[in-house]
Amino acid sequence: MAIEALQLSQQTVLIIDDDPIVVDIMETVFDGDLRILTASNGHDGILAACAENPDLILLDVRMPDMDGYEACRQLKAMAETADIPIIFLTARVETEDEFKGLELGAIDYIAKPIVPQIVRARIQNHLMLKRQRDQLANMSMIDGLTGIANRRRFDDHIEQELRRASRNKAPLAFLLLDIDDFKAYNDTYGHARGDDCLRTVAQEIKNFLRRPSDLVARYGGEEFAVVLPDTPPEAADMMAEKIRAGIEALNIPHKAARAADHVTVSIGAAICPPDALLTKSQLIEAADAQLYTSKRAGRNRASRAA
Ligand code: GH3
Ligand code: MG
Ligand code: MG
Repeated sequence: MAIEALQLSQQTVLIIDDDPIVVDIMETVFDGDLRILTASNGHDGILAACAENPDLILLDVRMPDMDGYEACRQLKAMAETADIPIIFLTARVETEDEFKGLELGAIDYIAKPIVPQIVRARIQNHLMLKRQRDQLANMSMIDGLTGIANRRRFDDHIEQELRRASRNKAPLAFLLLDIDDFKAYNDTYGHARGDDCLRTVAQEIKNFLRRPSDLVARYGGEEFAVVLPDTPPEAADMMAEKIRAGIEALNIPHKAARAADHVTVSIGAAICPPDALLTKSQLIEAADAQLYTSKRAGRNRASRAA
């Protein structure tokens, strides 16, 4: 029970209901086991869902202004909130509307007046399913060799952060890193040492990332992608240089390398400016071109698109 409570406490439920009694009941039913957020209308509820990414939404059907169905439609239409499970709260007389809600993508209905024990059991079940789903999703997003994010996670993350950057009118920096002469490293030291090197370099890059929205992913064989939201060009240059110097300072011997006698990386950087809408592929192409520039200029350096 203690473990269950502990796990539940890491989960967040958003209640969108104009009736404060429902919120009171839920707070009593879960008695601190859950993080409960509330909104008293559909509009505020949608904003809260976008900002807080709750694990579950309890949504009243009958509300003034926007009704629950419309709120559900909007939540399911936005990429950021589409996957959050929604349970409708509805008076028994409205049960003929159940089908409508399920069709809109809700996973369940809870009838009012609320019966606390039943609500508790049902919500616990849905939260357990959500937790399992999140765990599976996380596992499928991790690179098996290095333990950092994989290409799939990167694809999701950069799309999400590009949308956020354009909404917030904030710059987004992107770095593409490639280990120098890594084929020669494998040829000299063997594939197993090559794998160790990839793990060490991945961890080193990760050590430099500080914000929750920063991400390093394994982009390809010996290539890494770094997403740095809210990062202007000068800060991106500093990050690139820190990471480059950090990897050089690991001093992993590489006697067959051309740029040094230890492992180094070349970096290409690109920025999505606050007022521009760059697509993911435009940003990656720009960074890739700069990576090529770094390679041609002698490796072990960073270049950025102007
Ligand atoms: P450059 O400095 O121009 O980047 O030269 P490079 O040798 O690093 O580039 P190239 O693309 O020719 O070679 C990349 C090498 O990375 C070849 C491949 O065997 C190696 N590699 C890719 N994935 C892995 C992996 O998972 N483990 C190991 N050990 N090596 C890998
Ligand atoms: Mg490469
Ligand atoms: Mg390489």
